[in-house]
Amino acid sequence: MARIPEETLHTIRDRVDLVDLIGRHVQLKKSGRNFVGLCPFHSEKTPSFNVNVERQIFHCFGCGEGGNAITFLMKHENLTFPEAARTLARELGIEVPENEVSGEAGLGERLRGANLTAQALYAEAITRPQAEPAREYLARRGLGADEIERFGIGFAPASGRALLGRLEREGVPASLGQQAGLLGRRDHHFDMLRGRITFPIQDARGQVLGFGGRTLSDETKPKYLNTPESPIYKKREVFYGLHLAVPAMRRAERAVVVEGYFDRLAMHRAGVEEAVATCGTALTAEHARALRRRTRRVVLVFDGDEAGQKAVESSLQVLLPEGLRVESVLLPSGQDPDDLLVAEGAEGLRARVESAEPALDLVIRRVVTRGCNTPWEKSDAVAALAPLIGRVPEAVERSELVRRLALAVDVEASAVEQALYNARRGGEPEAREAMPEPPRRADPREHWARDLLAAVLVEPSLAGTGPHEALCSLVPASPARGALALALAEAAHAGVVDVAAIEAEAEAEAEASGAAAESNAAALTVLRMVALEGRFADAPEQARRAFHDVVSRLEDASDREARRQRRRGWEDHSLSDAELLAEAQQGVERRRRRSKHVQRPQSGAAH
Ligand SMILES: [Zn+2]
Repeated sequence: MARIPEETLHTIRDRVDLVDLIGRHVQLKKSGRNFVGLCPFHSEKTPSFNVNVERQIFHCFGCGEGGNAITFLMKHENLTFPEAARTLARELGIEVPENEVSGEAGLGERLRGANLTAQALYAEAITRPQAEPAREYLARRGLGADEIERFGIGFAPASGRALLGRLEREGVPASLGQQAGLLGRRDHHFDMLRGRITFPIQDARGQVLGFGGRTLSDETKPKYLNTPESPIYKKREVFYGLHLAVPAMRRAERAVVVEGYFDRLAMHRAGVEEAVATCGTALTAEHARALRRRTRRVVLVFDGDEAGQKAVESSLQVLLPEGLRVESVLLPSGQDPDDLLVAEGAEGLRARVESAEPALDLVIRRVVTRGCNTPWEKSDAVAALAPLIGRVPEAVERSELVRRLALAVDVEASAVEQALYNARRGGEPEAREAMPEPPRRADPREHWARDLLAAVLVEPSLAGTGPHEALCSLVPASPARGALALALAEAAHAGVVDVAAIEAEAEAEAEASGAAAESNAAALTVLRMVALEGRFADAPEQARRAFHDVVSRLEDASDREARRQRRRGWEDHSLSDAELLAEAQQGVERRRRRSKHVQRPQSGAAH
């Protein structure tokens, strides 16, 4: 594993000028203690993207993206953590020890190099006489020299030996070509895509990650063959045509999703440049996040047959939790955009895309038209749709959908609400995780935790020496509590809360352990937001007073809760007198212990 040494990360954080770095991509204006601009990760008209110089962090109050210099590069340029760290180090003239470079990230670069060689060979081959049938096939599908060049469409020579030879000449070992998925091996190595038309699958920056290959005749099976997954090619997260679509997505403020290479090309010919295609997989949560970083609105253009309608539903399951607004167009059954372009022309295809409707409306209509008269049918219809509606994270939008579904099925809205609630509790574990928080009254203690956090950020000595569990246990489990725990630990340990450092550490840990730090993300977001709000800045005395005030309020709330529970136990006889007495004594004990751990103002200066 290539780990960037901790000191190197520290030097990067020390030297980098976040406003300068982000300012190259976003126009920033000074506003109070922060700089603000239009967020590069979602489309917006009023700036909610904040950069804080002192803390070297950024955060968007619109879409929630945020982090430090390294994470900005990762997200903006689609780099891995070590790649982003090394890019910054190079720019700042910081040396990264050599042996650290030649690990996993080095492999990624070499795989990309092999792909580049393959792409050059394929693009060259399609212009040669031997590729005449390939060019004829493309011409029959309406694709000429322009599209071939713009999309880098190529041809893998049928002999199957050309790529091997080219890689060898460039000093790329066959084993690496095999690892990139370009070469297969029986008794000797051969080109996986030999005799096929090739489509380079590229990341947002245009780097080739893998290839799709189409046979020239429908008799050869399989019709489409993709290079297999490799350390750089993950089907769950790539889109075909993404790098050409990104600028158009920003302009059009939407992304259009289609299902195949030729469909993506048809969209280009119809002037719908903001289209991307999945490469032989259904949409995944990773795809959804990649779209959400660039736009809020997604238009699905699928075949109108049974499979296409199901695909709309399963796409909604991954797109909705990301807060995407999803519309869909169902094409006449059995037809894809490529066919329609031929039948109806560019104008016709474009009009179809523009006729997109909210996808959930479409799904509701489909379920209702299957029959919704008997109590059983109504119950089935609501049960089928509740899990989808439950995934809409915005409360207003969700309640409007509940109203519409209730109207369509002709039941009380409260019955739909109940079904939504049940779907949330009963869903399969991984689906439940993706569900938005159930609607509940915000617990004031979570706000108080943010107050404590704001105070500790300004006056780290308030953290005392811990243990902090006692203080944190006064707040219900929530991202705010997680953020408070992080800040208290950092303050006690380092004497100061360096938010950018906490982030970088979490990032590096995620990288080393194979990206398992998602659970921490919500806490980090709260930490960042509170740091950017900058309450109590320049007023440490006020921070101190607020801290102690909130701690005693939390203690009182916790005691009230305990008394309430005791009373309840006494009323319903679930607790015996002896148990009640023991409970009450434990409460007193807890309180005494707590007041020892949380330091009072007079001792607050020491730590
Ligand atoms: Zn944003």
